[in-house]
Amino acid sequence: MVLATSSLDSPIVSFLKQDRLLREGHFCYRSGRHSAALLDRDRLLADPAAASRMGYALAKSFFTAKIDTVAAPSIWGAGLAQWVAYFLEPRAKVVYSTPLPDGSRHIAENLHDLIVDKRILLIDNLLLSGDTIQRFDSDITSLGGEVLGIGCLWSGSDEEINGHQVLGLLNSRYPAYLPDDCPLCESGDATIETVPY
Ligand SMILES: [Zn+2]
Repeated sequence: MVLATSSLDSPIVSFLKQDRLLREGHFCYRSGRHSAALLDRDRLLADPAAASRMGYALAKSFFTAKIDTVAAPSIWGAGLAQWVAYFLEPRAKVVYSTPLPDGSRHIAENLHDLIVDKRILLIDNLLLSGDTIQRFDSDITSLGGEVLGIGCLWSGSDEEINGHQVLGLLNSRYPAYLPDDCPLCESGDATIETVPY
C-alpha cells in the first residue's frame, strides 16, 4: 500500500470558494457523514485551470508509486484522471468504465492490456458512499491490475477501501465525520443542510 498525503494549497481553495464550487457550512451527506464543506459535484471540474491544479496535487501524492495506469469509474473521474495521468512521471495511461443500460459498468476489452499486470491508481472526483469505487476496485483487481491507491477531491467514505488508503485532497481541511464525532453538532449548530448525494 502506498501512503500518500497531500492537500490543496490555499489559492485553489479560495478559487473554489469564490466560484461557489465549495461552500462552507454544516452538511449531512447521504452516507450519513457530516462535513463543513459541500462541493458542487457537477461543476467541480468544469474549469480546466482548476481541474489541472487539482490533478497535479493528486499526481504529486503518487509521484513515487510508479503508476502505469490511472483508472476512473465515472465520467467525472475520467476528466480528473486525464490530468493526474498527464502530470505523473513518466506519464500514465487512462482507462475508465462506461455505463451499460442496466446500470452496471463495463471496461472495454481493448483497454484490458492497460490493466493486466499494471500498477493502477484509482481516481474519482468525489467518494460518497464508496460503493462505486469499491466495485470498480474489484473489477480492476479481477482483471489482473494491482491497485496502489485511491485518490479523489473529497471523500465522505471510509479512510480505507478494500485495503487501499483513500486520499481526499480536501479531507485534511474538511474531514467527513460520523454524526457522533461531528464537532459542528457538538457545538450545537442545528442548521444542518441535507445533501441529496
Ligand atoms: Zn454534524
